[in-house]
This record gives sequence, C-alpha cells and structure tokens, in this order.
Amino acid sequence: MRIGFPHFGNVYIALKAVARRLESPGDVLITPPPMTQHTLDLGVKYSPAEACLPYKLTLGSLIEACELGADVLIQARGTGICRLGYYAKGQEQMLRDLNYAAHFLTVDISHHKFIGIMRLMRDVTHNRTWHEIISSFFFAIGKLSALDRIEKVVHKIRAVELEKGTASRIYRKAITSIDEATKSKEVKELTKEYIEKLNRVPKDITAEPLKVGIVGEIYVVIEPFANMDIEIELGKLGIEVERTLTISRWVKYSLFLNYLGLDEWRKVHKLAHAYLDHDIGGDGWESVGEKVLYARNGFDGIIHLAPFTCMPEIVAENIMPSTKEDIPVLAVTCDEQQSKQGMLTRLEAFTDLIGFRRRRGEHGRRV
Ligand code: SF4
Repeated sequence: MRIGFPHFGNVYIALKAVARRLESPGDVLITPPPMTQHTLDLGVKYSPAEACLPYKLTLGSLIEACELGADVLIQARGTGICRLGYYAKGQEQMLRDLNYAAHFLTVDISHHKFIGIMRLMRDVTHNRTWHEIISSFFFAIGKLSALDRIEKVVHKIRAVELEKGTASRIYRKAITSIDEATKSKEVKELTKEYIEKLNRVPKDITAEPLKVGIVGEIYVVIEPFANMDIEIELGKLGIEVERTLTISRWVKYSLFLNYLGLDEWRKVHKLAHAYLDHDIGGDGWESVGEKVLYARNGFDGIIHLAPFTCMPEIVAENIMPSTKEDIPVLAVTCDEQQSKQGMLTRLEAFTDLIGFRRRRGEHGRRV
C-alpha cells in the first residue's frame, strides 16, 4: 500500500510518527508536498466553483499525493449540517474521473471517533496488535501536543521579539526536531528545550502588545497556507495572537473527554446563547461564543476566518455585528481569490484601529 492524505497543519507529523512505528515491508506513507499555489490551482480546477476552500485545498493535496503514487487515501468525513459529509464522496469521484485508481479510507470525525481511528489504523497496518497501535497513536498525539505547546509560546514571543522572524525560525527547527524524534522522552526534552530557547529570545521589555483572538472554521484557522500565514503576519505587526482551536485540543476532547461527558465547548456555547442557541454546523456556534469570551477576557480585537461560501461561518459573521460585546472583529474571507497584499493592508488598518482604541482606553471594557 502507498498511503496518501491531504495536508492539514502539523497532522502529517503524527501520521509519519505512526508510519515509522507500524509500517510493514512494502507499505509506505506518501507525504504530499507542503501546500503551494500549485495545490490550490489543482483543487480549484477540479472542484465545483461553489465548494469551500478546505474542499479545494484538500482535493489539490490528494491529487499531489496520487501524483507521487498513493493508491490508498485517508480523508475525514462527517455528518452534520455543512458540506463535510460530501467531501470524501465528491473527491473520490473526481479522482476516478482523473483516472487515479486510489481507494478511499475515511475517518468519521462526527461519531465513534476514537474507535474509528483505531479501526482504520488496524486496517492499514495489517492487524498489528492493539498494544502497538494504541502506543504509536499516543506517541503521535504527544508530538502534536508538544508542537501546540511550543506554538503557544511562539505567539507571545513573535509580538515582542527585537529581531523579527527569530521565533518563527526557532519554531521551524522545533517542528523538524520533533518530527525526527523517536521516543516520547525525547519529545518531552525537545519541548522543554525549545520553550527555553524561545524564552531567551531578546525582547522589547517595554512593549505591551495588542492581543487578538483568532476564531473561525477549523481548517482555515489551523492550516497556515489557507490563512496566508496570518499569525506570522500579526506577529510582525507586534500583535500577540491566541487561538483555542488546535489539533491536540480537538483530539483531547473529541476522542477522550467527550466520552466522560466533558464538553470542550460548553462554556463557549453558553456565552453564545443570547445570540445563537444551537449548532449551525462546522464551527459557527463556537465562533459566536468565542467573540463573547475574548471580549470578556479583555482582548483588543478578533479576527474571524471564514471560507467563502461556508454557511456556518456566514451565519456567525452576520450575528457578530449585533452582539453587545464591544470588540472590533475583522472578518477575513478565505478563498482562491484572496491576495496576501490585500490581507496585509487590512491587517495594518485593523492594527491601527485597535491600537487607537487601546490608547483611548476603550479596549477591554468588561461587558
Ligand atoms: S465548516 Fe464550512 S468550510 Fe468547513 S467543511 Fe463545512 S462548509 Fe466547508
């Protein structure tokens, strides 16, 4: 088997970690190249025009995996109110039309998540023992958690570092080192080492950076190519970023704590209740609740990332201006027409606006 998958943030690192431990002779994991304009062009060319950006990007990435010889593809599927339920079917059909004979294996991310992932792992690893499968899964998740912990520190350092780009450079090295680590102990040590390195970066100790929360649809929030590296660009403008959505958090709650009755979004849904009291698909309900949360926590602004034509985020975007929480929201629509220069101009204007409000003492008023 030559197994391929679409890119999604650092998920490839987890898949590589599992493959290195469980790969059988003759099997190989095909890691598609990092997303580029070529990936997007492929996705746009072979997707329905009205499809959302995550659909187009993941299709482009799957085509790149097929071009490298993948004959089995892993893709997420789900049930619910948005288009995610159609992803795998539509993409599989398109790949057949393009004469790729790849077989699709899907992971249901709406129900039976943990069991579904375990079964999939057993199928592709030719019935390795449950012990081997579960331990390699936790090793892989450990790598994602480590990277999320380091990235949280990167978000703080980028805003105040004296030499712009230093924290991003360290983060890139951390990704490579953690990717290459072969033991959990090594991952832990590397995490500590890189956090210490980040904390030693020379900083402007007088700076009081503006703080912005990133909310929106999970794929465009987590995949840097989809959001044109918005977090790095905000860091260059001296803005500290915070975001709740991370892959390791999703794994922690969706695969484990939900089974114990712990709902990761209970608090956020409660906060959204005055404006929206039910799930509208995707991450729309959470986007509204997080606006309230960030306003209460004294943030200076919010950036709302929404794929063009994404119904849940369109609903959220329309609710946001009428909430009583007084916090500026910059809505960024992500699609193939987006231009980085246009986004940078909007980020600069937004920075001026929230900076002005901070100076006037208007930010962080408790509501
Ligand atoms: S939440 Fe929006 S962008 Fe994501 S799959 Fe659903 S419709 Fe597409």
